[in-house]
Amino acid sequence: MSRAITGRTMVAGVVGHPIAHSLSPILHNAWLEAAGIDGAYIALEAPEGGFRRLVEGLKGTSLRGLNVTLPFKTDALAAADDAHPRAQHAQAANLLTFAEGWVTADNTDGLGLLAAFAEQSPGFDPAAGPVAILGAGGGARGAVAAFLDAGCPHVRVVNRTLGRAQALTTDLGGEAYALADAEAAFQGAIAVVNATSAGLADASAPDFPLAATPEGCVVMDMVYKPLITPFLARAQALGRPTVDGLAMLIGQARPSFEAFFGQPPPADLDVRALALKALPA
Ligand code: NAP
Repeated sequence: MSRAITGRTMVAGVVGHPIAHSLSPILHNAWLEAAGIDGAYIALEAPEGGFRRLVEGLKGTSLRGLNVTLPFKTDALAAADDAHPRAQHAQAANLLTFAEGWVTADNTDGLGLLAAFAEQSPGFDPAAGPVAILGAGGGARGAVAAFLDAGCPHVRVVNRTLGRAQALTTDLGGEAYALADAEAAFQGAIAVVNATSAGLADASAPDFPLAATPEGCVVMDMVYKPLITPFLARAQALGRPTVDGLAMLIGQARPSFEAFFGQPPPADLDVRALALKALPA
């Protein structure tokens, strides 16, 4: 990076555990450079159980804000002084902005999710039928809230730990399903979204019964390493249209950038191509 960091440089970042492989610094720093903004975006690792201490320590500093990723999204809402209705509805936050000792929470994951559908599945209407969300963590909360806010008539939450899915649907709405009932959750669904963290390296990743989805059901994976996950590859083999997690990552990063630096990121920079270079094939 050719930009000089000075005492006036605006700083924002992303916090998670782990965090080293986050693509967010690539996106935000490329936008900062293209826009000619004196800013920097860094990645911060926080220990499990140490999130609130980190936020308390940063309050009142010149830090502009933080994106928040796994496993701290519910902690992020709890650590904030107030919250956008989106974050209140999701009961989870992926964005904290700091101003004069005051911390505000927001949730741009849902915006990113719907932006990804609009970009990669043009014409998709979230209000047109039921959707199934796999997982009940912070990412799933953002997705459920976004679909309900967009008029989705029925959100079905499928999770390994049924009690966590039930807690989510009690908080947000929708209906909880056990993994064993995923086939029933997929009946008539217009979209299925994987919001579990079960990845390629995880031998226990569930084999979701995608064949039970109707033709035309859009299958999305929040996981984007690799870009076409085994879950998306199976959906494509069944002829289902798919949406990838990188489109969502970029979609949630855009409003986050604007919240940190006071202007939208430059529209003409191809950050997807930059991020793809950093992804495994
Ligand atoms: P989280 O709060 O830790 O929740 C993880 C979820 O995955 C839980 O529902 C958990 O089930 C489930 N899970 C984990 N391992 C599993 C396995 N082997 N089998 C079945 N279920 C399993 O994480 P999160 O913040 O929601 O994030 C979830 C994923 O979405 C992560 O991979 C994250 O990187 C991704 N994400 C991507 C974006 C994006 O912009 N593309 C945005 C948000 C999240 P239990 O409740 O049973 O433990």
